[in-house]
Order: sequence, then structure tokens, then C-alpha cells
Amino acid sequence: MVNFAYRRPKSLAEALDFLSSCGNKTKVLAGGTDLTVDLRQGSAQPEYVLDTSRLDELKGIELSNGQLCIGAGVTLTEIYESALLERYTPALQKCAATFASKQIRNVATIGGNVAHCSPCADTLPPLLIHEAKAILASNKGLRETPIEDVASGPYESSLRPDEIILRFILKPSKDINFADFQKIGRRKALATARITMAFMARQDADRKISFLRFALGACTPTPQRIALVEDYLACRVPTVQTLWEAGGLLAESVLEITGRRPSASYKEPAVRGLSVRMLYPLVHVGA
Ligand SMILES: Cc1cc2nc3c(=O)[nH]c(=O)nc-3n(C[C@H](O)[C@H](O)[C@H](O)COP(=O)(O)OP(=O)(O)OC[C@H]3O[C@@H](n4cnc5c(N)ncnc54)[C@H](O)[C@@H]3O)c2cc1C
Repeated sequence: MVNFAYRRPKSLAEALDFLSSCGNKTKVLAGGTDLTVDLRQGSAQPEYVLDTSRLDELKGIELSNGQLCIGAGVTLTEIYESALLERYTPALQKCAATFASKQIRNVATIGGNVAHCSPCADTLPPLLIHEAKAILASNKGLRETPIEDVASGPYESSLRPDEIILRFILKPSKDINFADFQKIGRRKALATARITMAFMARQDADRKISFLRFALGACTPTPQRIALVEDYLACRVPTVQTLWEAGGLLAESVLEITGRRPSASYKEPAVRGLSVRMLYPLVHVGA
């Protein structure tokens, strides 16, 4: 463990002032479930650790002007327990239900999950299907960035050293009748995800898919929305055959992004199979 000085500002202004002068020597601390590991391993060696736990601006979940706002300091337990998120972001809520363990969920925050920029961060696929934006604060003001641009690569953040994530703005799901989050890890609990997926869809009375958002995580350098799958299934009445074909396109695009590595013989059928399993209710319900 490296030596560092600990700061716990009482206000956002104090935190941002500190970051404007010492941001490049500082690591921001939220729940600490990633940062303490990095400090112990020496992969983070800051002079200062800035604890955000007293900052009210990073807290709370609300719906206003048709947009959902989730504070960066909101914990996974708070996400899981939120009636608002159950209604408007069901895939994110399911992700919170399967995240780590109860003890970790009680302290781990959504802001920390995004800012750590792990390809395996579970909240990213659900955030991507809701076209989330991160609101970043520095003492120069606020800046908005699409969620997919927070990570510039695996464990590489695009945030400036003087910035913190304040909150996330999501488009709430509207008139959708399906949403899900799925995850494959090496074991059932406390496993780093190998593949994560989230989707939400609207299927009309004639069973045609009139709206679909689909995102993938953990098996590409950064989680991403897969337009190929969305476009392929749009306006179709889904069948097992069409889902299987869409899964094939998905697997192909993963291999295109990552290159054909030794893990491809596992990844290709696993990605395809998991997508078919997740999307299967579109065929089954009302069929
Ligand atoms: C046993 C165990 C199991 C886990 N299981 C899972 C799992 O199932 N799924 C999963 O996705 N992750 C998992 N994780 C990883 C971790 O719990 C999550 O990534 C968590 O959401 C990180 O949030 P935190 O509040 O603890 O962040 P911290 O550890 O406090 O911070 C993480 C990083 O984000 C930065 N940061 C934090 N808040 C902000 C902010 N507001 N603005 C800018 N930068 C910020 C920090 O500087 C640091 O670099 C697990 C970790 C452990 C130890």
C-alpha cells in the first residue's frame, strides 16, 4: 500500500478547487472497492486521495423533465432498491441485483464503476441502452459526455485530472415490453464478467419489433452498443431463426473488434448463445 494524504471535502466547490491545483496527483475515492485494490497492488500511486462521500451533489435518483438523473455516488444497493429505476431502467436494476455481493453493493457506486473504465464494468451495457450521458464537473464548469466516451480504452479514462463525474442522465424506457441484463462469469458469485449484455425492446401488437437497444460488455476493449443487431432485428417479427442469425452477426462483430484470439472458440458460441437466450422472450411471449 502506498502512502498518501487523505482529503474529505465538505462541499463540491472545495473538492473542485483541490482538483484544479492537485488533480494530477490525486485519486478520487467513492466506495473504494476498486481503488483500495489498485492502491494495495501499487497500480495507483497518488499523493492524495479525495473522498467524495460528503458531496450531496453526487447523491440521489430523480426523474425530471423526462430525464432520469442518477448521482455518481449512488450505490448499487440504492439502484437495486429504487422504485423509479425498477420502472424506467429495468435492465440497470437487474444488473444491480446480480452485482458482486451484498457487502460490495452497499458501498460500490455507479460513478466508480464507470470511472474505473474496466471493460467488465456491469453497469455500462444498461447505461448504453439508455443513451446515458455523464455530467462532469470541474471548477471551470460542467461538461457533458456520452457514456461510451468516458473510457478511451481498457482502464483508461478520458476525464481530465481536474474533473469528477457528478451524475448520469439517462433516457427512461418508454412503452417497452422487454428488458434484460445477462452476465456470464467463471462462477456464479463474485466473478469478473466474461460477457455482459443488456437490451430493451418494444414489440407491437403485430409482434414486430418497433424499438430495440442492445449493448455488449466485457468481451470488447470497451462496452458498446451493437447497431448491427439492432438494425437486423428492427421491424421484424422475431423467430428463433432470426435471433440465431442476429447472434451470429453479434459474434462476428466481437471477433472483428478483438481479433481471432485463442478464446474465440469459447467466445463465439457463448456470445451467440447468450444473446439468443436473452432475446428469446421476444419469440416466446405471445407466440
Ligand atoms: C469482491 C469484488 C467484487 C466485484 N464485483 C463486481 C461486479 O460484479 N461487477 C462490476 O462491475 N464490478 C465489480 N467489482 C468492481 C467494483 O466493485 C465496481 O467497479 C464499483 O462499482 C466501483 O465503485 P466504487 O464506488 O467502489 O469506486 P472506487 O473504488 O472508489 O473508485 C473506482 C475508480 O473510479 C474513480 N472514481 C470514483 N468516483 C468517481 C467520480 N465521481 N468521478 C471521477 N472518478 C471517480 C476512482 O478514482 C477510481 O479510479 C467488484 C469488486 C470487488 C472487490
